[in-house]
Amino acid sequence: MAFNYFSHNGKILPIEEAQVPLSNIEYQYGFGVYESIKVSGGVAFFVADHIERLMSSAKEIGLTHPFSPRAVEQGVAELLEKNATESCNVKILLLGAKTAEGASLEILCLNPLFPDAKLYRDGVHCVTYEYERAFPHAKTLNMLQSYLAYAEARLASAYDALLLDREGNITEGTRTNFFCMKGKTITSPPKEKILLGVTRKAVLKVAKENDFTVEERNIRPANLSEYDGAFLTSTSSKIMSIHSINEHTFAEQPKALKELMTAFSRFLDESRGVMN
Ligand code: PLP
Repeated sequence: MAFNYFSHNGKILPIEEAQVPLSNIEYQYGFGVYESIKVSGGVAFFVADHIERLMSSAKEIGLTHPFSPRAVEQGVAELLEKNATESCNVKILLLGAKTAEGASLEILCLNPLFPDAKLYRDGVHCVTYEYERAFPHAKTLNMLQSYLAYAEARLASAYDALLLDREGNITEGTRTNFFCMKGKTITSPPKEKILLGVTRKAVLKVAKENDFTVEERNIRPANLSEYDGAFLTSTSSKIMSIHSINEHTFAEQPKALKELMTAFSRFLDESRGVMN
């Protein structure tokens, strides 16, 4: 589907007027943060959580700007109405400048990509890649190494690359959060080392409501055999089961993971796009 409009600093404009600010040094150097929001069946999911993270990502890298959370939320709602779309990914780009007033806010609609249903059923293969993100809690435009990690994963026919910190612990995927599980215990890498994913937050809420235990611990590739299974979470893929990581293959998909996936789908259907 073609989306005819985008939003620039709170103003809806025809998409033909969108510009790449080539001479802007902040653009050239990637001094910006972004968000992707899923819109499905006319529901925009977890908008307030995404905007809260946009604001905290900006703060984390010292990007000052004049846009309030309310103004961003309004920009998203207006754009969805103008583009008359029930299903898309909303991308929000907040680009810094030398002064707060010079910052720019672009919001656009993109066509969503849905992972194949077979992948959810069978689980995906992942490979590891040594890379520690500089600002783990910020979703920044500095995506070069993540891009290269993902490209290497795709070359190895893997779904995603799992990033390893300097001690060799798995932290997260290139655009996903990572978890292991044993029985009804879910293990997450320590919060300080990862992006605090919006889907991660929703999944952990659903997990706790369904009597799962959640713990934080370093996970090394050599320790994967201690777990029954593993999975990824992200806005675009929800909960994605992992079948294998490098040479380690998990036995069949854990029953508890199927239970969590079902509970999470139910939660999404009933949530009306709001976390609480
Ligand atoms: N981790 C990283 C490094 C990411 O870039 C992303 C999303 O782009 C995620 C995790 C998943 O976050 P969310 O669930 O908010 O999409």
